[in-house]
Amino acid sequence: MSQEKILLTGGSGYVGSHSCVALCEAGYQPVIFDNFSNSSPKILDRLEQITKTKITLVEGDILNFNQIVNVFQQHNIKAVMHFAGCKAVDDSVKNPLKYYRSNVSGSINIIDAMKVSGVDVFIFSSSATIFGDLNVNPISESATFSPKNPYGKTKLFVEEIIADLFGSGCFSNLAALRYFNPVGAHHSGLIGEDPKGVPQNLMPYLAQVAVGRLSKLEIFGRDYPTKDGTGVRDYIHVMDVADAHVATLDYLLSNGGYLPINLGTGNGVSVLELIRTFEKASGHSIPWSFGPRRKGDAAEYYADPSLAKKKLGWSAKRNLDTMCSDMWRWQSENPHGY
Ligand code: NAD
Ligand code: UDP
Repeated sequence: MSQEKILLTGGSGYVGSHSCVALCEAGYQPVIFDNFSNSSPKILDRLEQITKTKITLVEGDILNFNQIVNVFQQHNIKAVMHFAGCKAVDDSVKNPLKYYRSNVSGSINIIDAMKVSGVDVFIFSSSATIFGDLNVNPISESATFSPKNPYGKTKLFVEEIIADLFGSGCFSNLAALRYFNPVGAHHSGLIGEDPKGVPQNLMPYLAQVAVGRLSKLEIFGRDYPTKDGTGVRDYIHVMDVADAHVATLDYLLSNGGYLPINLGTGNGVSVLELIRTFEKASGHSIPWSFGPRRKGDAAEYYADPSLAKKKLGWSAKRNLDTMCSDMWRWQSENPHGY
């Protein structure tokens, strides 16, 4: 069991908090750095209940270089998992500069602070949005990049920066994990996704309809060239995503290298299929109606997960029923989030 300290920027957010749990289980010591712009410090109690460990949480902003360097000075950090950033696609179209600042400048700050502090293991939260609307499935790591919005472009730009850093020899342990659609929650029901305002994504929207916070789901489009006309995505349990972070960290600490990796299950699930599975898991029927397509939506995409399996020995273990039942436990026990 390792006791290495791992810095989690954005570690009180959705994916970061679940990764914090997985890291503790694997014997690492997480140090969370977050400005709570999209999360709450209340999560600390929940994380400590689950992990039965004291977790360090530092309030700070990735746009503040000195704050980051201070964390490296105060803690003997071995590696960084960089989750912090803004993630709403629509908002990125309206406010591109906010996204370039937080996601690109923020990432450069982190990497720069790592360089001056002698830390050289970096795992970046990238996204399947870097591939855009390809219509070539399953999507492997060699698929063409074609992000369709500023959010997706920020993820691709940071990936390119990472590739250049590896090429320069300045850093030798780097990964970019392209998440497909993380959903669900830790099985304890103590932590989960807690979006501010009306959810933009399907699963948290569905859960809020089931719990009675929202009245009805609108399905965006019924005439896609998919199995039932509705959009198809690769939903992956957030704890599987968290486990993939630990597997990536273990790999980099033992082998080094540069790993751009797609994280999905390899299964395409339609909106209607997800609704039916969620209804079964929650015991609630979900009122829904068809509406027009959402602008910029791809018809269908799902990952080719074979490289993750080959390189990391990792593959997703939790099925769609578990994603829905864990999501429902979190939502029904915390109807208004934290
Ligand atoms: P989240 O919003 O729940 O978590 C991000 C965390 O970063 C929040 O706690 C927020 O307070 C913090 N943060 C934001 N700006 C910050 C700043 N300037 N300084 C310090 N902290 C800051 O998001 P998430 O769903 O956990 O996503 C984590 C990462 O994964 C993001 O980079 C996101 O783009 C990426 N990603 C998420 C998904 C998804 O569906 N959840 C899919 C693909 C990629
Ligand atoms: N979707 C929907 N209604 C909603 C939200 C999403 O029909 O209120 C559909 C969306 O068109 C897509 C799928 O659900 O086909 C997943 O959308 P989400 O925003 O969760 O993920 P993304 O499209 O970013 O992969």
